[in-house]
Amino acid sequence: MYNIKSQNATEFIDHSEILETLKYADENASNAELIDAILEKAELRKGLSHREASVLLACTLPDRVERMYRLAEQIKKDFYGSRIVMFAPLYLSNYCVNGCVYCPYHHQNKHIARKKLSQEDIVREVTALQDMGHKRLALEAGEDPVNNPIEYILDCVKTIYSIKHKNGAIRRVNVNIAATTVENYKKLHDAGIGTYILFQETYHKESYEKLHPTGPKHNYRYHTEAMDRAMQGGIDDVGLGVLFGLELYRYEFAGLLMHAEHLEATYGVGPHTISVPRIKKADDIDPAVFDNGIDDDTFAKIVACIRIAVPYTGMIISTRESKKVRERLLHLGISQISGASKTSVGGYAEPEPDDEKSEQFDVSDNRTLDEVVRWLMELGYIPSFCTACYREGRTGDRFMSLCKSGQIQNCCQPNALMTLKEYLMDYASPETRRIGEKLIEKEMALVASDKVRAIAAERLVKIENGDRDFRF
Ligand code: SF4
Ligand code: SF4
Repeated sequence: MYNIKSQNATEFIDHSEILETLKYADENASNAELIDAILEKAELRKGLSHREASVLLACTLPDRVERMYRLAEQIKKDFYGSRIVMFAPLYLSNYCVNGCVYCPYHHQNKHIARKKLSQEDIVREVTALQDMGHKRLALEAGEDPVNNPIEYILDCVKTIYSIKHKNGAIRRVNVNIAATTVENYKKLHDAGIGTYILFQETYHKESYEKLHPTGPKHNYRYHTEAMDRAMQGGIDDVGLGVLFGLELYRYEFAGLLMHAEHLEATYGVGPHTISVPRIKKADDIDPAVFDNGIDDDTFAKIVACIRIAVPYTGMIISTRESKKVRERLLHLGISQISGASKTSVGGYAEPEPDDEKSEQFDVSDNRTLDEVVRWLMELGYIPSFCTACYREGRTGDRFMSLCKSGQIQNCCQPNALMTLKEYLMDYASPETRRIGEKLIEKEMALVASDKVRAIAAERLVKIENGDRDFRF
């Protein structure tokens, strides 16, 4: 039985509710009257239910699909302006006891190089990341209680926050590790992590169990209820995601939104971010063996529908996707992207030797951070290295209420411009800096409050003169 507030994952992600949602969506895929009513509701920017959003995703009327894309783009502009938040992943360890069939780190893979960063390695890697200009990291590690216990992850977080090279600093560490206990989430919270990220992979329980044949991750309920335990442990910024390609995308889409609705209904705060990875080629993984791959057009429609359904939730796209795909999705709702990523354990400080490859998946966008930053600015976006909310204690419901009231705009725009200015001063190539300075001048005019604009202008001068780390 579907129960949005249940503590049992099979009830808040109820299989029959998803099947009924898909049936309802199919029956109404060309129901212009209903689709128009849903789009009108979406225009209020308060979000949509999983049923309503599923109708939009199924919609077969080309003019309504166009309207949907325009609306997604407008909502994106209203909430995020032109800002795109930048981050990089840092793989700590690829030791893993699970048997996930789509990931080369599955423990039966005997030929991939197994690596784990020591604290000294982390100093080298993070220094290299700081020297590129990164301020925000997402930590990744396989599940292995012996090699990657929670104490190891906590040590890594502590080390990362302590590294200050030249003007560099990592100001927000997000963590993507296996489902764990309330006590461990509490420890992560106390260590000062930003978002706890855990991809569901698939919401379809039967498929989930087949795709995770061995290891602790096999337990669907334990995995799916992880965000509840994270919330109970005090982490109120959580990041959801599914791996598109494993199951029918429409099933995943409904499940994802039901998960968001469950968190909002139970804890008063929905997901901070949603990631949309697609399955990729990797060491011993061939994406062609999975039947549910989605093409670029379907992918764009999914991103637009998520944007419309949960307007306040950040959306993340990684370097799994090519420059071309990323460019298209930026218009439709993506608000965070990674740049210059390495998906190997180590690899930022020095390239991995050919006979010791440890990559989780092939990267499709291999540009440097400077190239990604310049490209974004040439497209009219503001690359933002802002981490202010988390450091000002604006997380969870405090963040959401600021976001919903529109007040956040008074912080985001000047923060984005000040952190971009830091990047330009410390790390950019001359051409990137030239483009960036012009952009900052133009975008300063869009800071709504006269008072905030005046303070930001003073701070930009101070950054020019060597001061760092201002925020609203
Ligand atoms: S997806 Fe995660 S849990 Fe599964 S094999 Fe890869 S690293 Fe391990
Ligand atoms: S002010 Fe907050 S919401 Fe805005 S970009 Fe910075 S961290 Fe994100």
